[in-house]
Amino acid sequence: MNKNLFNSDAYIREVISDVVKVQKIQWNNEEVYEFELEKTCFFPEQGGQTSDTGKFYDLDSSDVYEVFHCYIKDDTVYHLARLMDQESEEKTVLEQPRRIHGMINWEERFDKMQNHSGEHLVSGTVHRFFGFDNVGFALSADNCTLDFNGTFSDEDIELIENTVNRAVFENIEVLVLYPTDEELKKIDYRSKKELTGQVRIVEFPGYDVCACCAPHVKRTGEIGLIKIISAEHFKGGTRMTIRCGYRALKDYRTKLESCRSISKLLSVPIDDVASGTEKLNEDLRKARFDLIGQMNTILLLKANEVIKEENPVIFIETADMNAARATVNTMVKQSKGLCGIFIGTDEKGYSYIVSSMTTDCTAVLNSLKTQLNAKGGGSKSMIQGSVPSTENQIRDLLNKFSNLENIALI
Ligand SMILES: [Zn+2]
Repeated sequence: MNKNLFNSDAYIREVISDVVKVQKIQWNNEEVYEFELEKTCFFPEQGGQTSDTGKFYDLDSSDVYEVFHCYIKDDTVYHLARLMDQESEEKTVLEQPRRIHGMINWEERFDKMQNHSGEHLVSGTVHRFFGFDNVGFALSADNCTLDFNGTFSDEDIELIENTVNRAVFENIEVLVLYPTDEELKKIDYRSKKELTGQVRIVEFPGYDVCACCAPHVKRTGEIGLIKIISAEHFKGGTRMTIRCGYRALKDYRTKLESCRSISKLLSVPIDDVASGTEKLNEDLRKARFDLIGQMNTILLLKANEVIKEENPVIFIETADMNAARATVNTMVKQSKGLCGIFIGTDEKGYSYIVSSMTTDCTAVLNSLKTQLNAKGGGSKSMIQGSVPSTENQIRDLLNKFSNLENIALI
């Protein structure tokens, strides 16, 4: 067991410590150094929160290690690190670090403290207002999700957001308590599991009381804005994604930039991008409708050009499948051959629809599948799918097919 400085003070960013043990281990198929220190300020992965990262400076040499993961086992924190100078010779046991200066990546740590503390306010408020429990929590360097065993309306989400942000503006002191067993029995606190030994209680007075081992901010004002960016149905409850502090600021910047770009593209004020996009969608829908009409006309003209052929087939680069189906339906009324439309190119392959009043189209489908690796399905009177072949290959197959005698008649 080593001394965990983050338990008593979450703001300790660096530590000078004797190395209890360092050894090389395999971690995800990579050989890395595993450090055990006499004391540490690095928070290990636990409770759904990923670990701190940072650097170790060997105080007896110029070696620097990148600490990329920490885990806890039997109350001891283990630090996994890579030697940053790739040119370094492998360390002999005698050359291994005896004393290190460890520095956590403070920007990442404080960001997690903001989001973790924000999570307390949200979970405590949800529990107080709706009686739901937080049944899952995940906090990494770029995401923070909370799972609840209940669902929320849009109004509920707004109420939760207003409440937790009020707690931020009130700048409440966050308390850390180590109650005796007797004192603990009198405390109404949230906990995901049965706890043994000394329990660490974190209290956001008026908003949340919870058993927790992670680093938190000292006052709620440090959390900054708390924004619930999504609340989706998940396993019968809700998965909520939140952004707090710097993350909320970054999220606002990203979304504002998107809105600015859309505003410019649509030539509408930024507050009107939703109605502007709605209008654009309507314009596109009309344009598409017109295009299908024109495509229909083109397909019918092409159909007229080939309808007298034994097997009238059209090859065209682009066309709407609904228009193609309508045209093929018109063609089969005027021809006893195989009527087909193939949409695409020799390079990309073709989507097809083939129909006939006299020939069993499933026989054609089988040939297309076995000889040209086509995909598709259908009935005796109509088949459709895709085929990764050239126009010549497809025409050859259809021509051979039409020359067969005893074609099954429908
Ligand atoms: Zn906590």
